[in-house]
Amino acid sequence: MRKQLRYAVVGLGHIAQVAVLPAFANARRNSKVTALVSGDSFKLKELSQKYGVSATYNYDQYDALLASGDIDAVYIALPNSMHCDYAVRAARAGVHVLCEKPMALDEDECERMALAARQGKNGSGVKLMVGYRLHFERANLEAIEVARSGRIGEPRQFSSTFTLQVVPDNIRVKSALGGGVLYDIGVYCINAARSLFAEEPVEARAIAAGALGDVEESVAALLRFPNERVASFVCSFGSAKVSQYRVVGTKGDLLLEPAYEYAAPLRHKLTIDGEARERRFAKRDQFAPELLYFSDCVLQGREPEPGAAEGLADVRVIRALYRSAESGQAVMLQPFEKRERPSLEQEIRRPPIEKPDVVHAQAPSGAS
Ligand code: NAD
Repeated sequence: MRKQLRYAVVGLGHIAQVAVLPAFANARRNSKVTALVSGDSFKLKELSQKYGVSATYNYDQYDALLASGDIDAVYIALPNSMHCDYAVRAARAGVHVLCEKPMALDEDECERMALAARQGKNGSGVKLMVGYRLHFERANLEAIEVARSGRIGEPRQFSSTFTLQVVPDNIRVKSALGGGVLYDIGVYCINAARSLFAEEPVEARAIAAGALGDVEESVAALLRFPNERVASFVCSFGSAKVSQYRVVGTKGDLLLEPAYEYAAPLRHKLTIDGEARERRFAKRDQFAPELLYFSDCVLQGREPEPGAAEGLADVRVIRALYRSAESGQAVMLQPFEKRERPSLEQEIRRPPIEKPDVVHAQAPSGAS
């Protein structure tokens, strides 16, 4: 059996360059980047030299790459509007799919991706994972453990703020590319609340405010979970960087700040019966763990967690929140059964990478 899964990184924008490509060095036990896909020939030349990857393709050659037999998997780092198409084409060619979050734009796209993965090529399925890096990260997994353990009593409330500044020409503020605060960052808050409560929400309400590009600047969201648990969060593309959540139980609470970052240490403040304890979690490479875990799933024939059902579970909440923001009404969510949840067993530790110089790419804030 092959020891290293051969990946094509599809889309060489900011996250591909600052996180995904450098992560292969930390994931070499079972993962290797062997092809690059981009529409920018200068970028292809520069990055192929930097990472020693000679096979480069433009988007028109994507199907030829999939059929070449030279790759086993794709890492899709494209705008959200392109996730479904690129994932389905890969799956139909028998190529495994690791796709950035959010999985896709709506439930229909998620289901098409899941079906394509189940069918694969000639009926032999492929693995599909959604790139939820925090499902392998200690501070977030430990928060889930604290919530489940009863140490803060019964978790009753979740609240979160996730904000940053986004420049007007970024993909995040273009609706045609799947922009919008809920798709980009709200997905983290929804995913954290679902994991901490180990339940699926039953009701969604949201207010959208302001405009940036042709999407909303901010969204304030409320989710009701079974047993009258409540989650609230605010996301914005027009505010200083804040990334935190708090889960409050009947006996105590846990605050994570920062909570969702990949380029900084994360912190816990756990208060039980009025006594507070703080902990710092060192900065680590959060992308190599995804590669290591996904490659193991493929090589050992295991279904990944977070798979298609996890991606869909968030996307259906995002859609419900947008419907609520548009209509001004609460939106009821249909029952959704979800058995797999992230757990501490999924933690994988790798040292932090050094941020490389980027080629023709910009951070959401406009920094290069
Ligand atoms: P980006 O704009 O920097 O990169 C997108 C890439 O897609 C660019 O290289 C661009 O050239 C390419 N592209 C191909 N066709 C395009 C088209 N028609 N229009 C625009 N661009 C096109 O964006 P990014 O920040 O790298 O985000 C890419 C994906 O990664 C998104 O799905 C985003 O949600 C996800 N992401 C994940 C994380 C994380 O922490 N897991 C962080 C940032 C972004």
